[in-house]
Amino acid sequence: MPGWWLRFTEANPVVPNAIAVSGLALISFSLAHIIHTSEQHGHGQIIETFGAVTKPGPFVDKVISLRTVYHNLFPAEVRNLVSNLYGNITLYLVVPFLLFLEFLFPCNPSQPLIGKGFLQDSIWYVIYTPLMLLIISPVVGILHRLFEQYLGFLTLGDATAWPVYLQIIAALLVAEFYLWFNHFARHKIRTLWLFHAVHHSQKELNVFTDDRAHIVDLLIGSLLMFVPFFIFHVSNFYAVTVIGIYKPIHNRFIHANLKINLGWLGWLFTSPQFHRVHHSVEPAHLDKNFGVYFSLYDHLFGTACPSRDVYPQTGIDDTRFPTEDKVRVSRLPGNLIVQIVYPFVQLFEQLRSLNFFHGRFPLRSGRKGSRPGNITQHKVS
Ligand SMILES: [Zn+2]
Ligand SMILES: [Zn+2]
Repeated sequence: MPGWWLRFTEANPVVPNAIAVSGLALISFSLAHIIHTSEQHGHGQIIETFGAVTKPGPFVDKVISLRTVYHNLFPAEVRNLVSNLYGNITLYLVVPFLLFLEFLFPCNPSQPLIGKGFLQDSIWYVIYTPLMLLIISPVVGILHRLFEQYLGFLTLGDATAWPVYLQIIAALLVAEFYLWFNHFARHKIRTLWLFHAVHHSQKELNVFTDDRAHIVDLLIGSLLMFVPFFIFHVSNFYAVTVIGIYKPIHNRFIHANLKINLGWLGWLFTSPQFHRVHHSVEPAHLDKNFGVYFSLYDHLFGTACPSRDVYPQTGIDDTRFPTEDKVRVSRLPGNLIVQIVYPFVQLFEQLRSLNFFHGRFPLRSGRKGSRPGNITQHKVS
């Protein structure tokens, strides 16, 4: 981007804010329409609707017969997983739009659109997320059954009569309250931080960074966020839609390399600027901006960074962390495994230093006195 353009957008932040908000709103409302239509026609009927409105011909017939083969080959669970991940329309609409915004309004202009950080995080998305969902889906099912069995009294009977959008807003506000405390705890409790640090280790924030989340961090961080949806009787269809479709849109946006703070809307919602400060390596930004969707609880609890125009460097100060800049591109898939294993190694070292194993795993002589990587918060010395 030429220098005059960067200076122009810096002097007129309303331009990137307006383009980002209107583009994302357009995508979100179009999706809401598609989802509403698909719900009316029944799930999995879109292709037949497509066939009914287009001229029947060899192409449509082929699509329908391919779909039949696909349905016969794979069980419903696998099909749902595939359609949620790779057939998810948000990926094909939102990712190109955000990359276009990154091209127009980069926060860090020297960061490549498709750099090593982007590639490493997209590998997290493509390889790791499906495996993780195979674990999470049954756990959410168990959670729902447990909630109905033991905490059914928490549900608001009146909420059944509310319009869907009100149920969803109420559920999101309560969920955010829970997420704020949960996120705070994952920063403050050392063992939880080991796993959350994987997400924070990204130096080149990008649209796939939200998918760089350790399974342990994810289980602790996001499972109970379904509970408010149970409380306010949000139907499973809409709960899954909001969490499965709108959550990724928002989270891809706030992790993008964008110089956007959402203007006055930033007092309510989190923005790329707000979340970048949360990922900051600078000591001044330690324990700031925990909000996930809404920034209001940080403003309420005094953890919001007062400056809304700072765009710091991101990452953690643990030099032992297997960041992707230490390996060649061809090694990135393997590096994913190293990044997943790393917190367990640190946990082991932490337990050993507490003599948890009663001296059964002594330090090797060459490593005597060596400290595990930074197992506390991401303080810069
Ligand atoms: Zn965090
Ligand atoms: Zn983040």
